[in-house]
Amino acid sequence: MLQAPIRHSSATGSCLSTPLSDHLLKKWDIQGPRYTSYPSIDRMVEAVRADDFEQLLRRRSELMAGRRRELSLYVHIPFCHSLCFYCACNKIVTRKHSLVEKYLTSLRKESERVAQVLRPQASDAVAQLHFGGGTPTFLSDLEIGELMGHLRATFPFARDIECSIEIDPRTVDPARLERLRELGVNRLSFGIQDFDEQVQLAINRVQPVDKVQPLVDAARQLGFTSTNFDLIYGLPYQSSASLAQTLRTVVGMRPGRIALYGYAHLPDRFKPQRRLSAMPLPSARERSTLLNLAIHTLEDAGYVHIGMDHFALPSDSLAHAKRNGRLYRNFQGYSTDADCDLLGLGVSAISKVGRGYFQNSKVLADYQDQLDRGQLPIERGLILDADDLLRRTLVMAIMCQGTVDFSAVGAAHLVNIREYFAEEWAALEALAADGLIELDEHSLHVTPQGWTLVRVIARVFDRYARDSQRRAQFSKVI
Ligand code: SF4
Repeated sequence: MLQAPIRHSSATGSCLSTPLSDHLLKKWDIQGPRYTSYPSIDRMVEAVRADDFEQLLRRRSELMAGRRRELSLYVHIPFCHSLCFYCACNKIVTRKHSLVEKYLTSLRKESERVAQVLRPQASDAVAQLHFGGGTPTFLSDLEIGELMGHLRATFPFARDIECSIEIDPRTVDPARLERLRELGVNRLSFGIQDFDEQVQLAINRVQPVDKVQPLVDAARQLGFTSTNFDLIYGLPYQSSASLAQTLRTVVGMRPGRIALYGYAHLPDRFKPQRRLSAMPLPSARERSTLLNLAIHTLEDAGYVHIGMDHFALPSDSLAHAKRNGRLYRNFQGYSTDADCDLLGLGVSAISKVGRGYFQNSKVLADYQDQLDRGQLPIERGLILDADDLLRRTLVMAIMCQGTVDFSAVGAAHLVNIREYFAEEWAALEALAADGLIELDEHSLHVTPQGWTLVRVIARVFDRYARDSQRRAQFSKVI
């Protein structure tokens, strides 16, 4: 059995999560969204198009004139030099750097069109800018500098803007990090995955410790305010011993944040993953052992379990946000960004404006053709109704704060929560019986044991996840 007593951290004042028993892991090992949005993005429909996006941008511009309402910008750079076999991202693996010039032209057209409709003012300055991919550092420093300059000229930037970039350690050296810092980037997210050589060879992503350590040292010396490591458990050839060694190395490097994702093997949806099908993948039981090992190791090393698969040092702003009830969730996972509107630029990028979600075309040629024709390249979207908005409030409160005040939510949405969710109540009681939540008529609290399965708890309020035909689309919770 993997069960251990509930522990509380006096150093951080926050509850530590508790490893779950095999019985509970097996019982609740279901598929479900990661709730980086609610409803999850697979609910988007093609009937919602660019006109709807522009209408909401205009509405926002009218309503928010002169009012403080910050913006987030996400810029997707889809290009990668080589293919990682676990990859489920929207990317283009290529050696042709010539593709970049036209792509940057498209990004300029798109941002100009969005700004023309939105008419951003100083009151809606961009407070967060994130470059994701793909591999953002596929772009040269000059290209990144030009792109940043264009964005800065198109949208007002907040003086204390948080500017983050995803780093593939194979593509940068300390000198490149120095130039990124000079360009105004102040946060780094390293794609580490695993330090074990056999695992790295299996997933086709070889980046030894002695390649990463100088980057981490340089990031510290250059004054980047936050460093995140992405890790993955459930990869081929991973064992408790190998993961323990990786975690020892990671903890020694002391990144402020760690995201530990469970590998979702869905080879029918993601073609590169077929290369891993013939390799020894950890069983469900082994995955839960790996997860519990990671939680133990990271918490023993002083990291706070933020929720699900995110950890942070107590001094990190993410841990502060969790303590102060100011944690949010966006398409990058847990975040300190207030629940602001998000403009996604680039192929496949997602925007969130008011009660609408919108996604750009996922095919590069389509994305560029539409911009060449003077149209925003929105391919699909979703406009939330009153029921969606109520459920979004509940799902996000559970995922971020781990607590729901039913009276406050009911008053804000003019519903009696107990009556409205009569059907869901039985499922909540089953979670309470297993010790994953504390529940009464007035409130719900996620217990330390429940944090690992927090998306199972949030899923109770997901109207769409009830459709059993859709369940196979999502990754397993563990
Ligand atoms: S995991 Fe990242 S670097 Fe690797 S192929 Fe996918 S997008 Fe590119």
